[in-house]
Amino acid sequence: MYLVSRPLAITCLVLLSVLPVVFADTVPWYDSLLVGMEVGPTGAQFGSDRADVKYAYRFSGKDIVEAQIAAGSQYLVIWGKDSEYAYYDSKVAPKCPGLGTRDVLREAVEAAKPHSLPVIVYCVVQGNGYPLRDHPEFKMKDSEGRPIDRICLNSGFMEHLKAVVDEMLAYGIQGFHIDMLDQGFGPPYGCWCEACRVRFEKDYGKPMPKGVTWDEDWDRMLEFRYNTCERFEREIYQHIKGRQATCSVDFNYHGNPPFSFELGQRPVQHAHIGDFVTGECGVWGFGALSTSLEALFLRGTDPGRPFQVVLQRGVRSYHDQTTRPLQDMRWEMFSLLMHGAQATIVDKTPFDGSLDPVAYERYGEIFREVAAKRAHFGRGHVPLVEAGVFFSHRTRDWYARETPRKYFEPFYGAHKALFYEHIPTEILFDENLTLERLRKCPVVYLPGAAIVSQAEVDLLRAYVREGGKLLITGETGTHDRMGAPLSESALTDLIGARLVRRLDTDDNHVSFSGEGGELDALAKDIPRDWPYLVRGAAVVYEPTTARAFGSLYRPVRSLLQQQGKEGFWLPQSPEESVGPAVLVNDFGKGRVVCIAAAPDTAIAGEWGMTEDRLLIRNGIRFLNPDPAVHIEAPKFVETAVTGGPEPGTLRVHFAAYLSTPQNTAKERPLTVPGLIEDTPIFRARIEVADGVKRVIPFNASTHVKRHGPAIDVQIDDVHEVLVIRTR
Ligand SMILES: [Zn+2]
Repeated sequence: MYLVSRPLAITCLVLLSVLPVVFADTVPWYDSLLVGMEVGPTGAQFGSDRADVKYAYRFSGKDIVEAQIAAGSQYLVIWGKDSEYAYYDSKVAPKCPGLGTRDVLREAVEAAKPHSLPVIVYCVVQGNGYPLRDHPEFKMKDSEGRPIDRICLNSGFMEHLKAVVDEMLAYGIQGFHIDMLDQGFGPPYGCWCEACRVRFEKDYGKPMPKGVTWDEDWDRMLEFRYNTCERFEREIYQHIKGRQATCSVDFNYHGNPPFSFELGQRPVQHAHIGDFVTGECGVWGFGALSTSLEALFLRGTDPGRPFQVVLQRGVRSYHDQTTRPLQDMRWEMFSLLMHGAQATIVDKTPFDGSLDPVAYERYGEIFREVAAKRAHFGRGHVPLVEAGVFFSHRTRDWYARETPRKYFEPFYGAHKALFYEHIPTEILFDENLTLERLRKCPVVYLPGAAIVSQAEVDLLRAYVREGGKLLITGETGTHDRMGAPLSESALTDLIGARLVRRLDTDDNHVSFSGEGGELDALAKDIPRDWPYLVRGAAVVYEPTTARAFGSLYRPVRSLLQQQGKEGFWLPQSPEESVGPAVLVNDFGKGRVVCIAAAPDTAIAGEWGMTEDRLLIRNGIRFLNPDPAVHIEAPKFVETAVTGGPEPGTLRVHFAAYLSTPQNTAKERPLTVPGLIEDTPIFRARIEVADGVKRVIPFNASTHVKRHGPAIDVQIDDVHEVLVIRTR
């Protein structure tokens, strides 16, 4: 395997989707393969007694490779080193005692060679096991100088990591998956160690802040923490490439929600320091919408680059030794593939390191289906985009600060609305926003982006002036770069209204009266003269050039609430109208819709109403009434549309998430979603603006009826893909 230059690689990839065998050796494994597995033992994740020789004694590189080949896995990520043990003959890290004289890495590499199965080594940075026991000087320190049980990335740990990767490189492996470069999942934050202090003063010519001060000093500290992660990743990347240029390097990524500043990663800055980026999804930890969002988020960081998402086998979490039903794993696998991800199934073995035969039967079914559908995924399939959703890391850091949900809720709600409404989505980022990226989106949606910089405002103005369409919600544009409230919105001229005040309540309501004109589109399917809850931030605007629709209401406050004797947990009824609900402003050749409330925040939270989502949908349909592809399908079905690689060809993917009813788990109201066991039957309608010449479903059981540019389908599966020829 050798690496070709990127333009050539992309050319090959377009061909590769048609001719997978011929060019298989000319592109890196991560550019051409769709699905593989990560296999690691269960039993040392919380520490391990060296006398426990039953741990991982059957963890066999040979058995694992044979299972990969039998199941049709296209690459293997094998556990090489965690924070307790090395699973090979290491001279620099303690070897897992249960292995005896066996060397799992050697077994895996030797067994994989005849099959040309790429072997990638999973190598842990994170963890408070042997490195911190042997080297307490590697520990982070808090602002008071007290040690934190995490590795400081500016400490001498790097030299140990280099020694470990050098040992593993000697085996002739194809890549490293390095997990993970976090600086902790919450307070106490680091690091104020001597090495960090020296480095900080060198970079900024100032001492570190005294603590978490949320001022200019803390702004430099956040920058320093981000740069610490980046420097560490670049150093180990270059070290590995200097020894073996063809060895791939990817880092487990945490620049995405629900993770915030505390981990030391930005969405774009830390996404592509390696050859590709790897993220995690999972109903168990992040909800069923996270599968789609993770793929879209990673893709959006740099749409030209490959990305990987891992899913896992357990019904509850990693290492739990349960196995999800086939349909549940199929849903997640095809949801990822249809958004352009490479997908890795994480398999955590039983304590002794053996393999679960039933799990491997299911992986085999999934991998065989992926192989049969190979022509419908991968590079060369260009995602169709209708709405670009803007993500502002500055809002995450400086508006939401230590309550990240304050910003993630409008962002999550935006994704949820677009998912339910089958509006093809791309994520745009403040870190690398360009006019070119904006122009590719018929509508750009800013959900609750409280901080919008002057440079971003200038780009948005240019985009709208030449015909772009903007949807704005909640507190977008109402805070300065340090998160302080502004007296005037940064987007005043785009919105065409003056900011009067921000409501200090979040149980706000909206309603619409009357019929006719633009109101019919903006308030479609929403009952009239019926104030309904839009739980979230709201802004009172006074129109200057905008046209105003509907009313925004502040809530009743009971006398007990006014006296401070009753809380605000339960939303109250609406009291009086304080401003318009929606503003529409024509700006240059384009148009802006501003929703003065936060329907996206509402649907991501506990009291979301259907009408909240409809208001978002209506805003987008009003701005872009004739999309290239319009899809109607049930809310439990996600769709994705791609163009190419064949000329005049669209693909519409359907992934059905039909979760089963569930009990409460543990304490009420905690509920874990039920697993998918059925293949649902559902109908959908697709309208293609360019017209339709031919429709080819993958499944023989799919019924297709064509009426001019409209296609009616009935599907009875968790995943289906329709190939639509438009000429
Ligand atoms: Zn440090």
